[in-house]
Amino acid sequence: MICLGIETTAHTASLSIVDDKGRIIFENRDMYTREDGGIIPSDAALHHKKIFPLLLEKLNKEFDLKNVGVIALSSGPGLAPCLLEGMRFAKEIASKLNAPLIPVNHLVAHLEIGKLFSKAKDPVFILATGANTQIIAFESGNYRIFGETLDTGIGNALDKFGRIIGLGFPAGSKIEELAKKGKYIDLGYVVKGMDLSFSGILTKAIDLSKKGCSKEDLCYSLQETYFSMLTEVTERAMAHVNKKEALLIGGVAANKRLIEMLNIMCRERKAKLYFVPVKYSGDQAAMIAYAGILQYKSNKKYYDNLKLQDIDINPNWRVEQVNITRV
Ligand code: AMP
Ligand code: MG
Repeated sequence: MICLGIETTAHTASLSIVDDKGRIIFENRDMYTREDGGIIPSDAALHHKKIFPLLLEKLNKEFDLKNVGVIALSSGPGLAPCLLEGMRFAKEIASKLNAPLIPVNHLVAHLEIGKLFSKAKDPVFILATGANTQIIAFESGNYRIFGETLDTGIGNALDKFGRIIGLGFPAGSKIEELAKKGKYIDLGYVVKGMDLSFSGILTKAIDLSKKGCSKEDLCYSLQETYFSMLTEVTERAMAHVNKKEALLIGGVAANKRLIEMLNIMCRERKAKLYFVPVKYSGDQAAMIAYAGILQYKSNKKYYDNLKLQDIDINPNWRVEQVNITRV
């Protein structure tokens, strides 16, 4: 079976064709960007609307859409205007091709493609993206969040600091470079139960920078603090659910110092740290198509009878609200 995946939850518009063995036959994406890295939801939606015909044209040249059996749409969580644009496009194609449309949770899709590529069987997931920071594991039939940020995502916090000290956007990798020459300054440390808070630490770093503290020291200290917090919560989640694998997902996963800390923790626990290739770690539609296939296979009858008018977007959809059944 062949699935057409559609992704539009935030800055990226993407189309992909994936088969039921998880082979990616086609994947193409285009990202909405602004100088300062911010996102205006209505502008991003307009970008997606303009770009879809071009992505479709490219797809049509490489693949005969008649072979598509099902269509998967990333219907949340995300920015409502972007999600609506994706849904409009998905419903149009679904009615043209007369194929079932499967609403997929964007975060579950990140986790599923992570497992596909890394070959990890049952890991604790560390989702460290721009907008999101969550520690997730599969327990009692659902993905569950064991710890998460109480305010900003870790990547956004790094980007904001980078913007203020003039590093441009995105700042993660530039902060990583500067951190190599820094020494430690206390910025505080905020883990509340299993949850993380990044913004107070960010404010302190910004304050110190305005007082003339060195960029290198602040970059180093921000990394050390944030990554220690993330490693601590990950370790406790692994102990709690008794799992021996951790899987690092999201743009921040590119950071060598974060990998080093998690690796030390995993080694001490006799556990293994897994990764996803960078190309499939960020937002794209291959993960939506793949998760859509898994979902469809688990409940064909339901999706074959699901009417287009009963499918809606879900901007605040959480992973624990998704019923996971696998066949
Ligand atoms: P995503 O939201 O998953 O597309 O990831 C984007 C985020 O990853 C941005 O906030 C980047 O600053 C961050 N990022 C990329 N490379 C690095 C790095 N080497 N270290 C830390 N953060 C990074
Ligand atoms: Mg994402």
